Amino acid sequence: MSPEFPCARCGRPVKRQPPSRTRPRRIACPRCRYLMYDYPRSSAGVLVMKDDTVLLLRRAHAPRIGFLDVPGGFMDANEGIEEAARRELREETGLTLGRLEPLGMYWDTYSLRGFGRFATINWYFVGRWRRGVPVADDDAASAEWVPLALLAARRRSFSWAHMPRVFTDLRRWVKAQREDSPRARSSRSAISSSAAQRSR
Ligand SMILES: [Zn+2]
Repeated sequence: MSPEFPCARCGRPVKRQPPSRTRPRRIACPRCRYLMYDYPRSSAGVLVMKDDTVLLLRRAHAPRIGFLDVPGGFMDANEGIEEAARRELREETGLTLGRLEPLGMYWDTYSLRGFGRFATINWYFVGRWRRGVPVADDDAASAEWVPLALLAARRRSFSWAHMPRVFTDLRRWVKAQREDSPRARSSRSAISSSAAQRSR
């Protein structure tokens, strides 16, 4: 159910109007005619990989207190996506990383008390841990390295519905990296050269 909240222009209580086939969801004030399209908000986060573990935070505040989350948050105006992801990581864990690779974009929703549920676009980057012990800030109760193999079992503790999709893509990224590592490349070339010798 969509709550009422004050019109941004005149203060009259207004409500979201559901989308139609031709029109996106919107908030229209019947008194002053102020019209706001209910566009999605963007967030950005970083998946920090250390060996086969990923850094997750346990949320200290509503919504989803005590649930697992990825370091990240809503983007500021005029901020780049990667810039926002790095800022959130630094603010929430104190960590800074080298190169980041984009992982993907994931739709979800977020609910604010008094404002209701709105659509979110969640961008993720992935990077390798370099140094430093992650220290959870006020927004997070704790920071922990969770083995990728244990993520499926922790599914019920995830803060957001889109997180399983993120971790599926993360596992794919880790696998691709492993196959592209210098060690994997040299063992592949060893296999192909021994195959070449056999064929002689
Ligand atoms: Zn109004």
